[in-house]
Amino acid sequence: MKARMSSKTAEHRLAAAGLEATDHRVRVLMAVGGTPYPSSAPEILDAVRAKSDINRVTVYRILDLLVEHEVLNRLDLGDKSRRFCLREDHDDEHPHFHCTRCDRYLCLHCDTLPLDQKALEALSLDVRHVDIRLEGICPACRKNDD
Ligand SMILES: [Zn+2]
Ligand SMILES: [Zn+2]
Repeated sequence: MKARMSSKTAEHRLAAAGLEATDHRVRVLMAVGGTPYPSSAPEILDAVRAKSDINRVTVYRILDLLVEHEVLNRLDLGDKSRRFCLREDHDDEHPHFHCTRCDRYLCLHCDTLPLDQKALEALSLDVRHVDIRLEGICPACRKNDD
Protein backbone atom coordinates (compact mmCIF):
# COMPACT_ATOMS: atom_id res chain seq x y z
CA MET A 1 0.00 0.00 0.00
CA LYS A 2 1.21 3.43 -0.90
CA ALA A 3 1.17 6.16 1.74
CA ARG A 4 -1.12 9.12 1.27
CA MET A 5 0.47 11.81 -0.83
CA SER A 6 1.45 15.00 1.02
CA SER A 7 0.94 18.43 -0.50
CA LYS A 8 4.73 18.86 -0.45
CA THR A 9 5.21 15.72 -2.56
CA ALA A 10 2.47 16.85 -4.94
CA GLU A 11 4.09 20.27 -5.35
CA HIS A 12 7.44 18.62 -5.98
CA ARG A 13 5.99 16.30 -8.66
CA LEU A 14 4.32 19.21 -10.44
CA ALA A 15 7.54 21.24 -10.41
CA ALA A 16 9.52 18.25 -11.74
CA ALA A 17 7.02 18.02 -14.63
CA GLY A 18 7.51 21.72 -15.39
CA LEU A 19 4.06 22.66 -14.13
CA GLU A 20 3.15 25.49 -11.81
CA ALA A 21 1.87 24.07 -8.51
CA THR A 22 -1.51 25.77 -8.37
CA ASP A 23 -3.81 24.95 -5.48
CA HIS A 24 -6.23 23.05 -7.75
CA ARG A 25 -3.51 20.98 -9.40
CA VAL A 26 -2.06 20.05 -6.01
CA ARG A 27 -5.50 18.94 -4.78
CA VAL A 28 -6.21 16.82 -7.87
CA LEU A 29 -2.78 15.18 -7.76
CA MET A 30 -3.17 14.42 -4.03
CA ALA A 31 -6.57 12.82 -4.71
CA VAL A 32 -5.08 10.46 -7.30
CA GLY A 33 -1.86 9.85 -5.34
CA GLY A 34 -3.80 9.11 -2.15
CA THR A 35 -5.03 5.73 -3.38
CA PRO A 36 -2.97 2.67 -4.35
CA TYR A 37 -5.37 1.79 -7.20
CA PRO A 38 -6.46 3.65 -10.32
CA SER A 39 -9.38 6.01 -9.59
CA SER A 40 -12.18 6.88 -11.97
CA ALA A 41 -12.71 10.53 -12.88
CA PRO A 42 -15.93 10.79 -10.78
CA GLU A 43 -14.12 9.29 -7.75
CA ILE A 44 -11.37 11.89 -8.09
CA LEU A 45 -13.96 14.63 -8.48
CA ASP A 46 -15.71 13.55 -5.27
CA ALA A 47 -12.42 13.42 -3.34
CA VAL A 48 -11.36 16.90 -4.49
CA ARG A 49 -14.81 18.39 -3.95
CA ALA A 50 -14.95 17.09 -0.39
CA LYS A 51 -12.23 19.61 0.43
CA SER A 52 -12.67 22.49 -1.95
CA ASP A 53 -15.07 24.20 -4.27
CA ILE A 54 -14.01 23.26 -7.78
CA ASN A 55 -16.00 22.49 -10.89
CA ARG A 56 -16.00 19.27 -12.88
CA VAL A 57 -14.51 20.73 -16.07
CA THR A 58 -11.54 22.16 -14.14
CA VAL A 59 -10.81 18.80 -12.51
CA TYR A 60 -11.05 16.92 -15.83
CA ARG A 61 -8.81 19.48 -17.53
CA ILE A 62 -6.19 19.13 -14.81
CA LEU A 63 -6.33 15.32 -15.15
CA ASP A 64 -5.66 15.60 -18.90
CA LEU A 65 -2.84 18.05 -18.26
CA LEU A 66 -1.20 15.70 -15.74
CA VAL A 67 -1.47 12.79 -18.19
CA GLU A 68 0.05 14.94 -20.93
CA HIS A 69 2.98 15.79 -18.67
CA GLU A 70 3.47 12.13 -17.69
CA VAL A 71 2.66 12.64 -14.03
CA LEU A 72 -0.34 10.30 -14.25
CA ASN A 73 -1.24 7.23 -16.28
CA ARG A 74 -4.64 7.11 -17.94
CA LEU A 75 -6.33 3.76 -18.45
CA ASP A 76 -8.81 3.86 -21.27
CA LEU A 77 -11.25 1.09 -20.55
CA GLY A 78 -13.19 1.06 -23.76
CA ASP A 79 -16.62 1.75 -22.34
CA LYS A 80 -15.76 5.48 -22.21
CA SER A 81 -14.69 5.06 -18.62
CA ARG A 82 -11.21 6.19 -17.73
CA ARG A 83 -9.14 5.72 -14.64
CA PHE A 84 -6.07 7.55 -13.45
CA CYS A 85 -3.12 6.51 -11.34
CA LEU A 86 0.21 7.95 -10.34
CA ARG A 87 3.44 7.31 -12.22
CA GLU A 88 6.47 6.64 -10.02
CA ASP A 89 8.42 8.65 -12.59
CA HIS A 90 7.74 9.79 -16.14
CA ASP A 91 8.74 6.39 -17.60
CA ASP A 92 6.44 4.44 -15.35
CA GLU A 93 3.75 2.78 -17.47
CA HIS A 94 3.15 -0.06 -15.05
CA PRO A 95 0.76 -2.94 -15.76
CA HIS A 96 -2.64 -3.32 -14.12
CA PHE A 97 -4.65 -6.19 -12.79
CA HIS A 98 -8.38 -6.21 -13.38
CA CYS A 99 -10.61 -8.34 -11.18
CA THR A 100 -13.36 -9.65 -13.45
CA ARG A 101 -15.58 -10.36 -10.44
CA CYS A 102 -15.64 -7.03 -8.57
CA ASP A 103 -14.36 -4.86 -11.47
CA ARG A 104 -11.58 -3.37 -9.33
CA TYR A 105 -8.22 -2.41 -10.83
CA LEU A 106 -4.87 -2.72 -9.08
CA CYS A 107 -1.58 -1.06 -10.01
CA LEU A 108 1.17 -3.65 -10.38
CA HIS A 109 4.65 -2.51 -9.54
CA CYS A 110 6.64 -5.46 -10.82
CA ASP A 111 9.28 -4.71 -13.41
CA THR A 112 9.73 -8.23 -14.66
CA LEU A 113 6.70 -8.63 -16.89
CA PRO A 114 8.20 -9.83 -20.15
CA LEU A 115 8.21 -7.44 -23.05
CA ASP A 116 10.58 -8.60 -25.75
CA GLN A 117 12.30 -5.34 -26.74
CA LYS A 118 14.45 -7.11 -29.34
CA ALA A 119 11.43 -8.61 -31.06
CA LEU A 120 9.72 -5.21 -31.11
CA GLU A 121 12.82 -3.58 -32.57
CA ALA A 122 13.07 -6.33 -35.18
CA LEU A 123 9.59 -5.31 -36.34
CA SER A 124 10.76 -1.68 -36.52
CA LEU A 125 8.07 -0.69 -34.04
CA ASP A 126 8.58 2.60 -32.27
CA VAL A 127 6.64 1.95 -29.08
CA ARG A 128 5.29 5.14 -27.50
CA HIS A 129 2.84 3.80 -24.97
CA VAL A 130 2.55 0.52 -23.11
CA ASP A 131 -0.71 -0.60 -21.56
CA ILE A 132 -0.65 -4.12 -20.15
CA ARG A 133 -3.70 -5.48 -18.37
CA LEU A 134 -3.93 -8.80 -16.59
CA GLU A 135 -7.33 -10.20 -15.71
CA GLY A 136 -8.35 -12.58 -12.97
CA ILE A 137 -9.75 -12.74 -9.45
CA CYS A 138 -8.46 -10.38 -6.74
CA PRO A 139 -7.52 -11.54 -3.21
CA ALA A 140 -10.72 -10.13 -1.65
CA CYS A 141 -12.92 -12.05 -4.10
CA ARG A 142 -10.84 -15.23 -3.70
CA LYS A 143 -11.35 -14.99 0.06
CA ASN A 144 -15.12 -14.92 -0.47
CA ASP A 145 -14.81 -18.23 -2.33
CA ASP A 146 -13.61 -20.05 0.80
ZN1 LIG B 1 -12.34 -8.76 -6.93
ZN1 LIG C 1 -1.61 2.19 -12.04
